[in-house]
Amino acid sequence: MRGYGMFSVNNPGWLEKERPACGAYDAIVTPTIVAPCSSDTHSMHGGSGPKENMILGHEAVGTVVEVGAEVTRFKVGDFVVVPCVTPNWLELGIQHGKSFSHDGRPFGSFKFINTEDGVMAEFFHVIHADANLTHLLEGVTPEQALMTVDMMSTGFYGVEMADVQFGDTVVVIGIGPVGLMAVGGAALRGAGRIIGIGTRPNCVKIAREYGATDIVSYKEGDIVEQVLELTSGGADRVIIAGGNKDTFAQAIAMTREMGNIASINYYDARDTLSFPALAWGLGMANKDIRSGFCPGGALRIQKLMEIIKYRGFDAAKIISHTFHGFDAMEDAFKLMDAKTPDLIKPIVYIDDL
Ligand code: NDP
Ligand code: ZN
Repeated sequence: MRGYGMFSVNNPGWLEKERPACGAYDAIVTPTIVAPCSSDTHSMHGGSGPKENMILGHEAVGTVVEVGAEVTRFKVGDFVVVPCVTPNWLELGIQHGKSFSHDGRPFGSFKFINTEDGVMAEFFHVIHADANLTHLLEGVTPEQALMTVDMMSTGFYGVEMADVQFGDTVVVIGIGPVGLMAVGGAALRGAGRIIGIGTRPNCVKIAREYGATDIVSYKEGDIVEQVLELTSGGADRVIIAGGNKDTFAQAIAMTREMGNIASINYYDARDTLSFPALAWGLGMANKDIRSGFCPGGALRIQKLMEIIKYRGFDAAKIISHTFHGFDAMEDAFKLMDAKTPDLIKPIVYIDDL
């Protein structure tokens, strides 16, 4: 089978591979719509360490083409939503309870593009189909469902880790697709003021539609000074969904005492993160720092689809570009890599397989 991926770091292209084998509890799925992600381009550039001959892509909805003998909830021909995080539910680490994203090793449940080939292929393998796959909820579009599998799960996880409370002042640093979801999630959680940091005009527009009350530009001065001025001393919760390694220290500095910092950024394997002790109140200010990888599994995705259906949260608003055809995955991936100013999230309809 063919798939789009990386031969080695900074060397993307079309790979030829064997169709994956299906275990007794697993499924083989053919993609219907895929969405390239900044984590795919990050991996291609070596940001998550060296990788070779890996098919990329981890965001898909698709059709089941094969199920293992023990699978009971799915059959061939079912349309399924595939979380980007697909735990091996037999690993004991998964019972830790903090987040269903670490089986066997740190973010071991992020199998696509790490320990298994990704979804930008004619076929891909999903471990533990009954616990990981889910059917589309009636009233939710396939495009909206596709945005739950990583973007919404990750952005909302930032809100959960930041522990946003009614009336809180929340800063979301970075309003790309992930940060936009954090803005929407913070609004659903009852935040008062929501300050989004970013500049791309279409992102700013959607941030306001999702609930941002203020927008700060990192291109127009120091973001710490700007936030401290707007909030008279700091925000209650700061969610990091963009920027660079220096953003980490800025987030800590703009958080008030007893506030929370939640990072959903995927830092570069070559980065070192550091921050001045004073900004952290010399360790005495009860500024909690949390970070993590989005949870996965079927229930997570089902709950996010319930929010779309019953709260009217339109997760598909962040889709800015659509492509058609299997080969167009290359164009969509290259667009994601080029990050043109009008780009938020591209999707590819695999309508010619
Ligand atoms: P984007 O690159 O699309 O968006 C980044 C945002 O950060 C933009 O709003 C950008 O502003 C803003 N920004 C850039 N530089 C700065 C700066 N110096 N200071 C403040 N803001 C800045 O990223 P994504 O939304 O795709 O992803 C965000 C992060 O989440 C990434 O680190 C990504 O790897 C991570 N991620 C984690 C996942 C997970 O845990 N499962 C999944 C997917 C992503 P502008 O408007 O000017 O472009
Ligand atoms: Zn992703």
